[in-house]
Amino acid sequence: MNRRNFLKTSALGLAFASTPLASFSAPGEPTRAKRGDGRLHLTFEPYELRLKHSFNLARSQRTTTPGVQVRIDYDGLRGYGEASMPPYLGENVESVCSYLSRLDLSQFTDPFRIKDIHEYMDSVAPDDRAAKASVDIALHDLTGKIMGQPWYKIWGLNPDKAPNTSYTISYDADPAEMKAKIDETAPFKIVKVKMGVGHDKETVEALRRHSDVPICVDANQGWTDKHAALDMCHWLSERGCQFVEQPMPKEMIEETAWLRERSPLPLIADEFLQRLPDVARAAAAYDGINIKLMKSTGLHEAHQMAVLARALGMKVMLGCMTETSCAVTAAAQLSPMVDWADLDGNLLIANDIFDGIKVVDGKVTIPADRPGIGVEPIA
Ligand code: MG
Repeated sequence: MNRRNFLKTSALGLAFASTPLASFSAPGEPTRAKRGDGRLHLTFEPYELRLKHSFNLARSQRTTTPGVQVRIDYDGLRGYGEASMPPYLGENVESVCSYLSRLDLSQFTDPFRIKDIHEYMDSVAPDDRAAKASVDIALHDLTGKIMGQPWYKIWGLNPDKAPNTSYTISYDADPAEMKAKIDETAPFKIVKVKMGVGHDKETVEALRRHSDVPICVDANQGWTDKHAALDMCHWLSERGCQFVEQPMPKEMIEETAWLRERSPLPLIADEFLQRLPDVARAAAAYDGINIKLMKSTGLHEAHQMAVLARALGMKVMLGCMTETSCAVTAAAQLSPMVDWADLDGNLLIANDIFDGIKVVDGKVTIPADRPGIGVEPIA
């Protein structure tokens, strides 16, 4: 009997045993490492991410991001996952923990049934995308570890094709603070500028005083006049900008399509889209999509979104939230498929608890020899 069949047979014998549901455990508290009962064991705990700099977006400012760390134990192996919940996406620690506590993954005896588990998760609740992503990431980590391979290899991707990753700066009225932010961009070959906060040109001009690095722009839905948006696209094009992300509010589809017809820069959908069915909709108004695991419910659907966008002739960008290296490194496994990566979320936080993705010479560098999503917890 091979190992897999042995596991299945063992699991059948235990199919009616009482099984624990997901539970909290305090940070640092040893978690139950279930060994050999052939079931998936989910545990999770809140973990607040502290930002190195306050984050100024078009519609908010913050210094922390709520997160939830997730583990799935199976047959002595552990998969790590994470939910990160920027406030504008509507999830929070309470909603994620509430959702995860409703899941009974112990009914599953095969961690490779990722599609079945996603269907089960969608049946429990339709939304809760970050919560689902945390489970999906942990499943990919676990199954990769069982196979002994990182996911970029399982998908057949060449890590040398991973793109440069952008590093995000936001405007600061204090010139010294702004200069400090610009200095931090030095290792990167593309810098992402957050716009729509009322200092759009000042941010670019401040950057241009110190650096000629190519930029990309994220307007975060901040431009509401299509003519002004077009003027800004031309202005940015003359200043080394490569593309504009979510220029207008996601509801302004016709205006965005109008802008796309005239803009010298590609327009990339971010807030406009979440999951796989949104990709075809985005093609009507945008040149490309920004895939993020916390929107797509994790790697399973993110991979499908990248394939579909390519088939539709669209550009693909891979983004992240402010996250530990856990979720960012998981996303990086997909990076050889994409045109642009914006995988700096782990670099923006002061209290990372995982070692994973590195930025080497501005480029996304996936840990080569680590199976699963490629992370190790920092002791
Ligand atoms: Mg964005």
